[in-house]
Amino acid sequence: MSDQNETPLININAGDGKGQQDEDDDFDFYYDYAKAAQLDRSGCWTEQNWQEEMEKHPLFATKAPEPGQEQSELIDAFSQLKYDPEFNSIEELMNSYRQDGNENFRHKKYRWAIDSYSEGIRLAFKHSSKNQSSENIETNKLNESLSVLYNNRSSAHFHLGNYRSSMQDATRAMFLNQQNLKAKIRFAQCCCRLKRFEQCIIFCKKELDESNELKIENEKAKEKFRQEMQTLLEEAEKKFKIQNRDERKSAKTEQKRSYEQKQIEQAVQERGIKFQGSLFETDHPTVRGCFVHFDSHQTLVWPVVFIYPDVGQTDFIEKFSENSTFAEYIEMLFETKPEWDQKNQYRPERIRCYYQSCQTYTVDGEKRIAQELELIEFDRKLSLLKVLQLDDYIVQNAVPIVCIKPAETIQDNKSDNSESDDIIRINKSSKSWKNRQSERIQGQIKEGGDTGQPKLTPVSVTLGDCLACSGCITSTEAVLISEQSHEKVIDILDEKQKNNNLIIVMTLSLQALASLAAKYNLDSIQSAAERISYLFHSLGVDYIFDIALARHICLQESWQELSKQYNSDTNSKQPLLSSTCPGFVCYAEKSQGNILVPLLSRIKSPQQIMGLLVKKRLHLVNDQFVDVQPDRIYHITLMPCYDKKLEASRLENRIDESIKEVDCVITPLEVEKILEFKQIENLDSLPCRLLDQFNVGFSPNGEIQSHRGSGSGGYADNLLRMMAIYQKMATKELMSTELEWKIVRNADFLEINLHESETDTKPVISFAILNGFRNIQNLVSRLKRKSCPYDYIEVSACPKGCLNGGAQFRNIPFNKKLNEKLTPDSDPIVITFEQVQKLYVQLPKTGFDFFTNNEMIDNQTVEIYSKLQLDDEFREKFRTEFRILEKKFNILNSNW
Ligand code: SF4
Repeated sequence: MSDQNETPLININAGDGKGQQDEDDDFDFYYDYAKAAQLDRSGCWTEQNWQEEMEKHPLFATKAPEPGQEQSELIDAFSQLKYDPEFNSIEELMNSYRQDGNENFRHKKYRWAIDSYSEGIRLAFKHSSKNQSSENIETNKLNESLSVLYNNRSSAHFHLGNYRSSMQDATRAMFLNQQNLKAKIRFAQCCCRLKRFEQCIIFCKKELDESNELKIENEKAKEKFRQEMQTLLEEAEKKFKIQNRDERKSAKTEQKRSYEQKQIEQAVQERGIKFQGSLFETDHPTVRGCFVHFDSHQTLVWPVVFIYPDVGQTDFIEKFSENSTFAEYIEMLFETKPEWDQKNQYRPERIRCYYQSCQTYTVDGEKRIAQELELIEFDRKLSLLKVLQLDDYIVQNAVPIVCIKPAETIQDNKSDNSESDDIIRINKSSKSWKNRQSERIQGQIKEGGDTGQPKLTPVSVTLGDCLACSGCITSTEAVLISEQSHEKVIDILDEKQKNNNLIIVMTLSLQALASLAAKYNLDSIQSAAERISYLFHSLGVDYIFDIALARHICLQESWQELSKQYNSDTNSKQPLLSSTCPGFVCYAEKSQGNILVPLLSRIKSPQQIMGLLVKKRLHLVNDQFVDVQPDRIYHITLMPCYDKKLEASRLENRIDESIKEVDCVITPLEVEKILEFKQIENLDSLPCRLLDQFNVGFSPNGEIQSHRGSGSGGYADNLLRMMAIYQKMATKELMSTELEWKIVRNADFLEINLHESETDTKPVISFAILNGFRNIQNLVSRLKRKSCPYDYIEVSACPKGCLNGGAQFRNIPFNKKLNEKLTPDSDPIVITFEQVQKLYVQLPKTGFDFFTNNEMIDNQTVEIYSKLQLDDEFREKFRTEFRILEKKFNILNSNW
């Protein structure tokens, strides 16, 4: 309350026992005061503001202030009294924090509740470490209170879906107080949610058996406990049976599949077809999920990719029978003129077919394949089988690929080079494959040839190395990528042993963690993260973070950019395209620069934002680093694809010329290699270590949180909700439930439209999600036709998005060791996209405060920005630039 309000109160007391004159004076004074109160003077209780002022008074307030909201001085004073250790015993303090937690819990503010209970627990530990009481009574009392706090925190975690944390707290609560029945029930519930049905069954049976010995007088509570335990036991027994049945079923299916695949492999070899790697695993973005198989007549049916390099298009034939000819498919595909054939060149009679010749060679006893990038024409009347049987044809990446060109584009020297009627060699002037390959290995190939013409000679890029960006990387980039490997990480960690001056930091992406969790059969991403954290910390990494905080900042900055663009005066509004996927950015810059580059979001990806935080704000994690220069920090990231290595090596992503924001990117496949190198069989065998935190209140208790929306980061989902609030279209339902994305062409092309009213045909807000190059090509043609209606598009190069990134674990049909035996007892290891997705979806969700408040005030983000000292100058570093590059080497237009 202000001083002006205090004056009359003093006078009321002072009025006792005064004379008439004094009373008159008092009357005049009150009259004047009451009159003055009619005026709207700031700080006074007036007729207009008394309700508001009452709300600020601790005795009359009906709700607690929001974080960041100013509190009245009286409330402040009461709070100090309530929480001051000088005026309160430890029991009273714990009780206060428990009540606060309960109040937040009642209002479903579970994270706040967790904070309050955690504070109570922290105080209890502080107290007991200071006062080692010999009094059993006091210890027991403290333990009981502590048990209640743990149990309550367990409930809050349970409501947030953090079943692992909930289970840990319930265990602690039971340990501290054997009679804590609620904790026992919570423990059993967590077992069920975590699908640990067997553990649940054993636990419930034991508790039911021992329930008669419980030292609880309240018989009703005991009976209720027994009933709940019985119900949980029955539920667990039922689900355990189903789980066992499903496991047996899927193991059988896998054994059957393994057996069939072995048969197919044999058939392929018997036909004299050469192949590299597995026939049932591919990184090719278009082909995933389709593999060679038998039809009902035991004929092999292959997936085949047709590439049209002159127009940058591809076709995918899912089922190409080995006995069918290329002519048949060409007739079928070009019966009507394709939309992209502007010049009408691709008429069936004018089309010619080529394959890329390959040879094998050996380095250090290891057999490798050299791809000559030399095109050999073949007669399209040949069957697929005949082509696959050619001496220098090797199937790579599980899919045969052929190149299709119209006759007029061929610089044909057919007469000089023809070796048979069926096969015609072209481009014979190039060096022999052996010479070229040895140059590739030494990384010596330079751009430009003997003639001085600007001819690009690609290095180690082959179709087999295909990145999500269709392999369009230059030799320089290839070298930069190859510098980032698990060997490099091992070298750096070794160097750290000698040079302790180096600070090594690691950032973990949630998608890569999901893949590792699936591969090593861990129950959650949290579990995988804590084990990875232990592994790398024990190897010498100083700090290990997850990427969610950087993603939060990326989303916030992207919203600033989108809202600014939305308000701009330009008449022809174009969509803003997300640029967090380097596969898409690479394609945009090199293949469709004029169309795509102007539309790309200028906000850096979470990987690079994290790079900036690590190199520039590490002192907020440990204040000893205040004066540490960025060049002393080595930053490693764990990412789901190789394309992220490309992103880390961009010149735009450097702090200065020589200091990168991210020094080395590794992938789940490389973590597997490090585990093998360290002779660790399974991640599961490692202990856990909590992740490190920038102390900005983003992830309480080191718990990993994800944002709502797609597995690629939820950009479209989060920005759409922000846009809806901005446009005053946010309904409670829209803010609190999952968005209903509509399938446009396929499951990788989704859209959502928000209309002002049901009768409106034109949407006010229109967002889309596009995954995979097929859909990206479709986007390009829509943009060319100026018929792209979206405000924002989340674009990912990989089909199904980042959870399906090129360096994630794929289906491993059977255990490599047992592969040779291939008996029906083989132990299958299957890692499906669905498994990875399920783990990702289970992560507790974070977001922006205004989702719940339905206002554009986001106190949490304000606090994060302030604690991280992200002023305008620093935020400018979150922005980047993209370039329109000349088309150089591209697997589609190199030497085809
Ligand atoms: S979609 Fe994700 S995983 Fe795939 S290339 Fe892009 S960033 Fe990498």
